Amino acid sequence: MAIVTPLESAPGARRRLALANPATLEPIGEIEVQAADDVRAAVMKARETQPEWAASSFDMRATVIRRALRILLDRQDEFIDLILSETGKARSEALQMEIYAACDSLNYYARRAGKILKPRRERLHGMFSLLKQLHVVYRPLGVVGVISPWNGPFILAINPCIQALMAGNAVILKPSEVTPFSGKLVGDLFDAAELPAGLLQVMLGDGETGAELTRAGVDKISFTGSVATGREVAVACAEQLIPCTLELGGKDAMIVCGDADLDNAAGGAVAGAFMNTGQYCCGTERVYVVNSVADEFTRRVVERTQRLRQGAGGEFDVGAVFWPRQLEIIQEHVADAIEKGAKILCGGRRTPSLPGLFYEPTVLIDVHHDMQIMSDETFGPILPIMRVDDEETAIRMANDSDYGLGANVWTTNREKGIAMARRLESGSVCVNDMTMTYGLQEAPFGGVKQSGIGQVNGETGLKGYCHATPILVDRFGGRQTASRYPYTHEKDEGIRRFMRLQWGTALGRRLS
Ligand code: NDP
Repeated sequence: MAIVTPLESAPGARRRLALANPATLEPIGEIEVQAADDVRAAVMKARETQPEWAASSFDMRATVIRRALRILLDRQDEFIDLILSETGKARSEALQMEIYAACDSLNYYARRAGKILKPRRERLHGMFSLLKQLHVVYRPLGVVGVISPWNGPFILAINPCIQALMAGNAVILKPSEVTPFSGKLVGDLFDAAELPAGLLQVMLGDGETGAELTRAGVDKISFTGSVATGREVAVACAEQLIPCTLELGGKDAMIVCGDADLDNAAGGAVAGAFMNTGQYCCGTERVYVVNSVADEFTRRVVERTQRLRQGAGGEFDVGAVFWPRQLEIIQEHVADAIEKGAKILCGGRRTPSLPGLFYEPTVLIDVHHDMQIMSDETFGPILPIMRVDDEETAIRMANDSDYGLGANVWTTNREKGIAMARRLESGSVCVNDMTMTYGLQEAPFGGVKQSGIGQVNGETGLKGYCHATPILVDRFGGRQTASRYPYTHEKDEGIRRFMRLQWGTALGRRLS
């Protein structure tokens, strides 16, 4: 995320913010903060255009989405350069996490949304199947507000927009104030793809703009961000009686079993902790390794960590911390851990050779759960490793958290890995992988405990942007309902006889 500085504004004018590149500290532009009137005007415009889009075919919507895919493929370097200027992340990360993932999402929903949201006839159970027909149609909600964070500024903005649009909604997107230009790219991409005007509008601004969006009369909020803001968004949505999905923070645990392939596990730990400079919701934030392999695992982790290259421009592995507040949190958590007895095996300080917001990839041992580094979301390039007696203890420690977004288990015994995964209190779990389920559209994604409410992506996500409307048709033109009155003892006795027939015998229960 870029460094943001408020600018002087004339009285009555919109507030302005200046942005700087976190890796080089160079200025990269300014934005005006859009206020309540702007947001409400955008929602009105969206309401005007959405019905025609909702009435269009899935093929027609998919044509626009595919055009966006082609444009993104052609102009990927331009998009990557802009994302890098706001985030200072490694180029490969912008390519893989932002562009590749966005292309995959565009293609996935263009191809499958029509099938997933196709109206369907549902076979009714028991006697109802003789009397009624049930059709279920998926109607778009209307106007969806998407509020996105700074750590995956393009993919976390575009992915919900693609799903909401393919489901037939209009979207108002509010990206984070520190990565506004990556959010604006989403609007530019769909403009270039000739999405009808008004269907996707990007509101630049800060938290105030986001708060206005939650109160502007939209039909759903799709929020990705911190637990604290998620709670505020939930309250605002409750007041409006509108649904929301909340994709919030995490403190993902990794468990290394005694039978794990230690080289793979060490590589997984390093990737899990340092990818995106540790600033992603499913980053590995704490490792529990069983005693029997702890020394060797830790040695391999340190060896790999020391080989990582940091930089600003050119080829490197670990980029900048995206904004100053995050750097403060990282420093606070490391200082707290050291004070309480943790030992640094490598890293542990700001990177002296780089002028921007850089922190060295850090490995800590002798950590425990009374340290912030093991209990609070750090969101930085820190890997704390804790030794445990056995796998049972590892599961207990992993579950000892207010968060429950992702987790990963490393073992050469696949069945054991799956069995352990089932016992972890986590929205998703990987076996022999670092958590990347957000990138797999088929996997319903969302946290438990404080890590969120609701799930996104795939069939679950698409249907979440719709109201599933049952349409019930009487097979006999309404004769049964028309003869409802008068109520009589004879009719009640008939119903009782039928109930005994239906549920009082094994055959009856099977048929109904
Ligand atoms: P924030 O909660 O600070 O911000 C998220 C978005 O909400 C931003 O666009 C922000 O705007 C906006 N916002 C701020 N205040 C309000 C408000 N009162 N009402 C409505 N919107 C508001 O999160 P971060 O941007 O700091 O993102 C990092 C967090 O996101 C981490 O905790 C991370 O774990 C989590 N995350 C979760 C993911 C998941 O899928 N579960 C994925 C990625 C990140 P502005 O920035 O302009 O203030």
